[in-house]
Amino acid sequence: MATAAVEAQATHVDVLIVGAGISGIGSAYHLQEQCPGKSYVILEMKDTFGGTWETHKYPGVRSDSDLYTFGYRFKPWVGTPIASAQAILDYMGEVITENGIDQHIRYGTRITACNWDSKTNLWTVEATAKGGQKVTYTCNFLWMCQGYYDHEKPYIPEWPGMDKYKGQLIHAQLWDPKTDYKGKRVLVIGSGATAATVIPEFAKEAAHVTMLQRSPTYFYCSENKNELADRLREIGIDEPTIHRVVRAQIMHDQDVLTRRAIEEPDAVFEDLKALIRAFTGVEDFPFEPHFTPKYRPWQQRLAFCPEGDIFRAAVAGKLTVVTDTLETFTEKGVRTGSGEEIEADIIVAATGFNLLMMGGIPFSVDGRPVDWHETVNYRGMMFTGVPNMCWVMGYFRASWTLRVDMMGDFVCNLLNHMDKIGAKRIDVALRDEDKDMPLSDWIEAENFNPGYLMRGLKLMPKRGDKPEWRHNQDYWAERNEIPNIDLSGDEFLYDGQRSKARAKVAEPA
Ligand SMILES: Cc1cc2nc3c(=O)[nH]c(=O)nc-3n(C[C@H](O)[C@H](O)[C@H](O)COP(=O)(O)OP(=O)(O)OC[C@H]3O[C@@H](n4cnc5c(N)ncnc54)[C@H](O)[C@@H]3O)c2cc1C
Repeated sequence: MATAAVEAQATHVDVLIVGAGISGIGSAYHLQEQCPGKSYVILEMKDTFGGTWETHKYPGVRSDSDLYTFGYRFKPWVGTPIASAQAILDYMGEVITENGIDQHIRYGTRITACNWDSKTNLWTVEATAKGGQKVTYTCNFLWMCQGYYDHEKPYIPEWPGMDKYKGQLIHAQLWDPKTDYKGKRVLVIGSGATAATVIPEFAKEAAHVTMLQRSPTYFYCSENKNELADRLREIGIDEPTIHRVVRAQIMHDQDVLTRRAIEEPDAVFEDLKALIRAFTGVEDFPFEPHFTPKYRPWQQRLAFCPEGDIFRAAVAGKLTVVTDTLETFTEKGVRTGSGEEIEADIIVAATGFNLLMMGGIPFSVDGRPVDWHETVNYRGMMFTGVPNMCWVMGYFRASWTLRVDMMGDFVCNLLNHMDKIGAKRIDVALRDEDKDMPLSDWIEAENFNPGYLMRGLKLMPKRGDKPEWRHNQDYWAERNEIPNIDLSGDEFLYDGQRSKARAKVAEPA
């Protein structure tokens, strides 16, 4: 709770941004541009910026989306569409220095609590700085950009016999780049985007790679280039224009693909197969049983596969795929459900994340702990019962950053609107017409169902059945909806009142 004593020692800012990943840096940029009078700070627990792109260090770590759309709308991307983690960090570094954002970041500062006090209309944010020193900030508005998963503890199932294994077992998220895999037998457990990235890299130098998957994944094979961008460059078009045009092209094509995946999933799968045949040059490439998923394309992210590299590794005999359950670890490797022994010197668990709601930071409102599962989520951005706070949760099927830019506009509009009407507090609240609305889990499993979300649904807020109370994961709908949100709508309470009630009070008698 924000006591007078705490506030006396606290540093105050108008806006406090949590996290210096791609969301936090983008949000800071928009705040500076659109609310130039606001003071702000970014608190980041790591010693540097980058978030996801700093955490992951496994071989070949790269984006899955193209950087024309994963890059910010305000800074042109000039490299290959799919970029290495280092190229993304370089790009973010440029955004930070070009815009003087560095002076606002406090590295090595781990937030340990966020407490709202309705008497002062302030958040008190407690944190531990380098050397264990406790620091306290107060702020009027909290902009949560802490990502969605635990950066320190990845998801690794408890398999029987793990302690028996004599080789090296490591989760991809904790990969140490000094690990030597040259000439060794590597087993990768998992088949998602991470597996798709590391396997072709391992295949270059390892003695052999085996991928053990419980079930198959869809792969999208493509060259790592954008012909339109290359052509526009060749004819001398400026980079900001290329960025804008290529973003539009990619978003259009993704929209078409998403709709086709829903309307004609079999035809889309045939197209994906045709690409694999083209990149491997193998007309009768065997898709059964290892490359025929059970779910619809697009119920989970498509794993990108530059130049068909993972399939080419399989065709070259460097990769064996096993589709089976993992029964137990053994001294030399693992045994599968059907009794197959797979020996390996190194086992890499590419088994995904642990979802972490709000970075695991405990929140309270007027001394009452916040249980996120008890809140209803406003468009995947704000929560009932939690004032003056927004949460950046990007897209799963389109580039995350598209939403960072869009939310940047929304939050800045909201802050400017509050200043204009003299409001100190903003809440979202169910309207009269929402009172009987059925509430359900945050995301429909039928729509999008990766393991980390399904495992963590009870940590997530609730969803209603109206556009205002869902994060519909649909960029193409939101790009029209979010810029047109009516900030005087009844879902917004300013200082506890609806806009209409405030206007009546303000009207001269
Ligand atoms: C390997 C990998 C590849 C991916 N590829 C893509 C892709 O190609 N396209 C795409 O759209 N998405 C991709 N994603 C999803 C990706 O995580 C997001 O797109 C995006 O990078 C998330 O950025 P963020 O800034 O919101 O969160 P993060 O990158 O998670 O950054 C959050 C930051 O907040 C900090 N933080 C957390 N808690 C605290 C605390 N208590 N105190 C202080 N600081 C805190 C963290 O240290 C971190 O720096 C990928 C994810 C992974 C893991």
